[in-house]
Amino acid sequence: MNSRAGRTLSLALVFSAGAALFLGSASPAQAGDRPARAPLARPAPPNLLLPVSTTPTTSVRTAHTRIAIPEAQRPMTALQIAARHGLKYHDAGTYVLLEGGTLRVRIYPGTSTVVIAGREYTVKDPALRSERTIVLSKRVTGFLNHKIGSFRADERVHKTVHRGRPRARPRFKPLPPLPPKPKRAKRTPAPARTIPAKPAPKKIAPIGPERQWIPPTRERKWKWIVIHHSDDQRGNMAKYDDYHRNDKGWEHGCGYHFVIGNGSLSGNGEVEMGPRWTKQLHGAHAKTPDNRFNDHGVGICLVGDFNVGSAKPSSAQMSALVRLVRWLRDRYGINLSDVHGHCDCCSTECPGKNFPWAELKRRAR
Ligand SMILES: [Zn+2]
Repeated sequence: MNSRAGRTLSLALVFSAGAALFLGSASPAQAGDRPARAPLARPAPPNLLLPVSTTPTTSVRTAHTRIAIPEAQRPMTALQIAARHGLKYHDAGTYVLLEGGTLRVRIYPGTSTVVIAGREYTVKDPALRSERTIVLSKRVTGFLNHKIGSFRADERVHKTVHRGRPRARPRFKPLPPLPPKPKRAKRTPAPARTIPAKPAPKKIAPIGPERQWIPPTRERKWKWIVIHHSDDQRGNMAKYDDYHRNDKGWEHGCGYHFVIGNGSLSGNGEVEMGPRWTKQLHGAHAKTPDNRFNDHGVGICLVGDFNVGSAKPSSAQMSALVRLVRWLRDRYGINLSDVHGHCDCCSTECPGKNFPWAELKRRAR
C-alpha cells in the first residue's frame, strides 16, 4: 500500500479544494461570465540536465545555519553521476536508471544492490533517498564511477575491435540479449490429404501449485511483475478483495492478482489467486500515467509490513514468491530486470525497506 502516495494525494486534494474554493467564491451573478479557468500550476519537472557543480564547496541550509561541505566529502547524487558520464537520468520511484547507449544502471535505495548493465553488484553502503534524489555515499560513487568508466572504455574497445577484426571477441558483452518472446504455436490449416495428421503433442501441465495458476481463459500479455506488501499484519485475498470491492468500489475486486499469506488469515506461504488473475484482467496496484504496470504487470502482494523494524517476509512466503515469480517469468518470458517493487513504479515505500531484493533476484533467476 501507499503511504507516500497517500500524502501526495491528500496534498493534491487540499490544493484542488483550495482552487475550487477560490473559483467557487465568485458571486452567482458572475457565475455566467466567469473567466476561462486558468490551468493549474504544475510542479516543474526535475532538471534532468543539471550540470555537475564545478565549485569546490556546496552549502546546505539547515533550520538555523548554512554549512559548507567540501566537494570531496560531499556524497554525490545519482543525478550528478549521470551528468558526469553524459547519461540520461530517470527516477521512477526508488530506483535510478541511467541510460547512455546500452548502459543501464539501477540503484535500489536502502539496499546494497546495484545493477549495472544487467549484472548485479553488492556495495557496502546502501544508497539513500532524499526527496526525489538518490544520494550515494563516496564509496558507492567511486564504485559506480569505476564500473561505468570501465564499461564505457570496454564499449569503445569493443567497437574498434569489431570494426577492425570482427572475429575478436569483446571481453564484456554490452547487455544480455532480451529473452525470446514466448511463441504462440502457429495454427496451420489442416492439409487436405488422406494420411491422418499426427496429433499435436499435448502440452504437459506442470505438477505442483503451478498447475493451479494456469488461467482458465485466454492469457493476457504480461510484461512485468510488481511486488507489494499489504502494509498490515493480518490478511488474505478475501480481505483485500472485500476492501477493494466494497470500500474502494472497484468492480473487479482485489487489485492484486496474487496474495501470499503469512499464516494469519491464510496459510503461511499460501498463494491465493484473485478474480483478476482467473479472468485475466488488468490489475489495480501500481498506478502510473500510462498505467502500464496495471495493464501488463502481475501484482503480487505479500501479507505483512516490511517497513517496520526489521520485519521481513517469512521463509515460506519467500519460497512461494520465488516459485511464483519463476513460473511467471518462464511462462510469459519476463526478464528478471522487469521484476519490480511497487516503489520502483510509484512514489511509495512498498514493499518496505526490509524486503530482501537481493535474495529474490538471486533465487528467481
Ligand atoms: Zn504496494
